[in-house]
Amino acid sequence: MRCDVLTLFPDMISSVLDESIIKRAREKGFLDVRIINIRDFTQDKHHTADDYPYGGGAGMVLKVEPILRAVDFIREKENDLRIVLLSPQGRRYEQSIAQELSTEKRRIVFLCGHYEGIDERVKMYLSPEEISIGDYVLTGGELAALVVIDSVVRLIPGVLGDSASVNEESFNDILDYPHYTRPSEIRDMQVPPVLLSGDHGKIKIWRRRQALLSTLKKRPDLLSEDNLSTEDREILEEIKDDLTI
Ligand code: SAM
Repeated sequence: MRCDVLTLFPDMISSVLDESIIKRAREKGFLDVRIINIRDFTQDKHHTADDYPYGGGAGMVLKVEPILRAVDFIREKENDLRIVLLSPQGRRYEQSIAQELSTEKRRIVFLCGHYEGIDERVKMYLSPEEISIGDYVLTGGELAALVVIDSVVRLIPGVLGDSASVNEESFNDILDYPHYTRPSEIRDMQVPPVLLSGDHGKIKIWRRRQALLSTLKKRPDLLSEDNLSTEDREILEEIKDDLTI
């Protein structure tokens, strides 16, 4: 994944990108990310990147010029960009979008608003796609951009040690099964014996059953025909029978 994050608060971004799996992904070249401070593209002596809204009202608005100049700067090296504006008014972000972004060849420019948002003319000029990470309002787009980057990077083959873990987890089709690690017993709670049996066939069936049970209880909307094999449907019927007993 190749991307730029345009922000007024670069430290918010770097603090996360310099940790854990994302840090390693950067070091190994799976993620090429530049953090671009919009303020560096202001031209007045006070480096003003935001201003009062025309028509009055609360909050400040990010100015057009520094943002367009920052995008021009990126375009000097690479013209074909995918520009994403993080916005509560955007298309709701979900795993299928993460999967699609993980195969994007173009450089992605994440534009983070702040305060009351950005001058509408930025949208008129750049026609960005707008992505929302949920129906709530954040103080800025930085956390939203990080959510998107984090969820995309871990889908890139090679980033996680065991690629099977990506295929088996929640939203790949249904929700994930429960996980356990040592010790096998604590405070009278035991790890399900099948996981200690060494029988990989049985473990696989148990995990699928648990995943189906979890999904039925928490997110039945994910149990569409497309996600289920004939075997899954049989297991689900058994689960439903057991639950009604
Ligand atoms: N006045 C805007 C509105 O009501 O639509 C909200 C502005 S919000 C306080 C400031 C910035 O945070 C936005 O420009 C956007 O970049 C980001 N933001 C807030 N909520 C978001 C969300 N749910 N998803 C993505 N970005 C969000």
